[in-house]
Amino acid sequence: MITCIAILPGMIHFSAANAQQTIEGIHYATGKPVRVAIENGIIVSVKPVKKLAEAYGKTYIAPGFFDNQVNGFAGVSFAFGESDLTSEGIAKATRELWKCGVTTYLPTLTTNSREVLLRNFRLLAGALKDEKLLGAIPGFHLEGPFINPEDGFRGAHPKQFVRLPDWNEFQELNRAAGGKILQVTLAPEMQGAQEFIKKCTESGVVVAVGHHNANKGQLDLAVTNGAKISTHLGNGCANMISRHYNPFWPQLANDQLWISIICDGFHLLPEEVLVFYKIKGAGKTIITSDVTSYAALPPGTYTTQTGETIELTPEGKLHLPAQQVLYGSASPVTKGVGNIMKFTGCSLSDAIQMVSANPARLYHLDDRGTLEPGKRADLVMFTIDDYKLKIVRTFVKGDLVYEMGNNEK
Ligand SMILES: [Zn+2]
Repeated sequence: MITCIAILPGMIHFSAANAQQTIEGIHYATGKPVRVAIENGIIVSVKPVKKLAEAYGKTYIAPGFFDNQVNGFAGVSFAFGESDLTSEGIAKATRELWKCGVTTYLPTLTTNSREVLLRNFRLLAGALKDEKLLGAIPGFHLEGPFINPEDGFRGAHPKQFVRLPDWNEFQELNRAAGGKILQVTLAPEMQGAQEFIKKCTESGVVVAVGHHNANKGQLDLAVTNGAKISTHLGNGCANMISRHYNPFWPQLANDQLWISIICDGFHLLPEEVLVFYKIKGAGKTIITSDVTSYAALPPGTYTTQTGETIELTPEGKLHLPAQQVLYGSASPVTKGVGNIMKFTGCSLSDAIQMVSANPARLYHLDDRGTLEPGKRADLVMFTIDDYKLKIVRTFVKGDLVYEMGNNEK
């Protein structure tokens, strides 16, 4: 629940003469008061100030959050078969994510028929050039359909659409997506996967391993061939696995492999998050959400487009009660920032690195992800209380797109 506050006059200074505005708050990494100057959508300076006005004294400024796995949001699905996906729907999901401090995200399509994937990628490709989205969508994530079809490893992906890696199909999908599939998540043990990984890597597509049951040899070979990251490590796995021969040890043991983890408090236990973080560190960990269209909707029971009953609990857990399988998440990465600090004891600076700088670095989006001159003015201002972030303002490319108590733009 968002608590309204009064608009704070003087916090934003705007000069029409040079179109420069400044904002002030606590630097998320140094803990010191700073003034950030923005011009033409770009950060032009970040300078220390002696003291903030009392009303601003608890508000942090950080680079906007970057979520690399967004299946949908606020009633808008990117992934469904009978999709009502429209440019207005994409804009609505984007605006709702802005309210959560998410300034960049990758709409994510999961395992589905070739026809549905093609159609949805074509629809989404229009968002790349939609000026009102302010560049919040730099590309897409394809999770599946080249995953392990076995129950458990497959997660909630529909079995009938799981298939072997097919480079021709991927190229066709990527063309439909305007050439902007930035990441594909696949199972490296499937026939043809290693060659597929090499081709993706050569063409600059980030390969993630996920929904897989790869052994050490298969996993290490995938990394040698260019795989960069594990998608939502700890999930997309069977409940019953061998204590020795399971996909976790090779992924944790391989120092080159980054991980993304869902820190909503349901997908992983706090001790799992802690152990993963201890091994990979803030440099190789990304906070992701796997958030679905049911996020930001009221708790209750819903029927999916494939006729399955899912439940969103008041606590924010989204699951298929009949199969005892989680059905993606209902919490944006914003919740993950507070949770990872709580679960691991990491600093705010480290948490922000894992939700902003690291994904930008992974996809070579050098224009964003840090609070530095020359970067896009994608900024989030927030307070933290008991590990819960309250978003106060969000700027995307210098535009104030959300202000608490003043509704969205
Ligand atoms: Zn998944």
